[in-house]
Amino acid sequence: MAKILVVEDEQVINDLIVKHLALVGHTCLSAYEGLRALELLRTHEPDLVILDVMLPGLDGFDLVKLMGDVPVIFVTAKSNLEDKLKGLSLGAEDYIVKPFEMQELLARVRVVLRRTKRDSNEFSFDGLTVDFNARKVFRGEEEIILAPKEFALLEALIKNRNIALSREKILCLVWAFDYEGDTRTVDVHVQKLRQKLELKDRIRTIYKVGYRFEV
Ligand code: CA
Repeated sequence: MAKILVVEDEQVINDLIVKHLALVGHTCLSAYEGLRALELLRTHEPDLVILDVMLPGLDGFDLVKLMGDVPVIFVTAKSNLEDKLKGLSLGAEDYIVKPFEMQELLARVRVVLRRTKRDSNEFSFDGLTVDFNARKVFRGEEEIILAPKEFALLEALIKNRNIALSREKILCLVWAFDYEGDTRTVDVHVQKLRQKLELKDRIRTIYKVGYRFEV
């Protein structure tokens, strides 16, 4: 998950891009014109910029020259080859032509983050940071020690966030085999997670179903 600056003057499109990026766990910042974009770039140091070409004032081609070495994906209605080559020659990582499918944008973001190694594979909420690579959880700088199964449960809940998971499904995801024991194992581990990470309001019990991690 990465910090992404979305520079797009049409608010509806900006909101839509931000919404989809947030759904897959990225943290987003929005700017509707160039000067604000440069300010956010300096103050927040995003991992990636999604940059519209046609902007009021400084356009995307002007802006990218002022943005330093942050990876940029251009988004634009300009579909001719000349503009595409201009964008790429200015150092953009990729170029998406409007109208585009959100799935395509998400796929390109994933590729660029992987290529530029900016994707830390972390998920942050409520002052907690979950590092899926190191399999560790931190509150600020302090590590909170979880048992391996507790971490696996947290991972399953976060990766399926806002979706109700049955206890059987959780057993399958976390214990990874046809668990002979009963589903109370899940309940016990959920209780431990709630206690250790103060997640009472985040991990909801769904009556007669199971659990849902809400963000
Ligand atoms: Ca525009």
